[in-house]
Amino acid sequence: MLSLGKLLDLTLAGREPTEKIQLTAAGVRLHWLAEGALEVSPLKAEDAGLDLLLSAGLHGNETAPIELLDRLLQAIASGELRPRVRILFLLGNPEAMRRGERYVEQDINRLFSGRHEAASGFEALRAGELEQLAANFFSLAGRERLHYDLHTAIRGSQIEQFALYPYRDGCQHSARQLTRLRDAGIGAVLLQNKTGITFSSHTYAHLHAEAFTLELGKARPFGENQGVNLSRLEAVLRDLIAHGCTGGDEDFSGLQLFVVAREVIKHSDGFQLHLAPDVENFTALPKGFLLAEDIAGSRWLIEEEGARIIFPNPKVKNGLRAGIIVVPAVSL
Ligand code: ZN
Repeated sequence: MLSLGKLLDLTLAGREPTEKIQLTAAGVRLHWLAEGALEVSPLKAEDAGLDLLLSAGLHGNETAPIELLDRLLQAIASGELRPRVRILFLLGNPEAMRRGERYVEQDINRLFSGRHEAASGFEALRAGELEQLAANFFSLAGRERLHYDLHTAIRGSQIEQFALYPYRDGCQHSARQLTRLRDAGIGAVLLQNKTGITFSSHTYAHLHAEAFTLELGKARPFGENQGVNLSRLEAVLRDLIAHGCTGGDEDFSGLQLFVVAREVIKHSDGFQLHLAPDVENFTALPKGFLLAEDIAGSRWLIEEEGARIIFPNPKVKNGLRAGIIVVPAVSL
């Protein structure tokens, strides 16, 4: 029988464990909740009051973050890392992981905040299940809630590791959280200005967790992630798991902050993006540059000072975002 610490192996093999609950030698509880979903509960007397959701594999071919979660869970299962926080490990899209592909039918990370209800198919069902698992996990009152959704990107980036900080009406972005991101090796944060349909947007807006999408380098197959350095993030996560949220340092100097200037929405099959296919995230866009064209003579001309592009993707379905134009943030 495989131990529940082998969540990744079980998930990749498409197997259900015979025992759904196991205790480590120290009495830490591992609970298999569903495929690719495992909850870790510390000893009651050692609980520091943090509920930490760690998700990866929402895009099945983004293996470096999946391997990172696997290392953390195996360290907990073996007793080498003693958790003092509740943790929910989620592997987002098991079927896509098994195929080594970004998704099977549709991008699961565009189906949250209820969007899955208007869709059908495997990924829509899984998005609904992930929302439910997150809601159950974040249902205890009086505890700190934190969610990191880990990704690697389709393309390289001029700022290797960056984060997206979601938006909720009337909620201020936290300097303390930004400081932890800086300590984890994150070079830039995009402060979002409207609620989104990604997993971290959902947990931030609807479940009131501090939540972030982390982009950690370029996607590669399992075992080929030597070029993706997650050591600083791993150290910060180990520290969080072992101690909870300690310290209130609010000096995030060195971290670059950006805001969304405009989203480029693809309206038709005639959409043309005037960037090289391998253009890197955060590439500068000079003023006056014609970024994109679409039907009926619609044009995307750069007017902003200090503009850069992130997530350019002319292959998205019509009606979806084909890129984001960002500019430096003036303040938090
Ligand atoms: Zn991703």
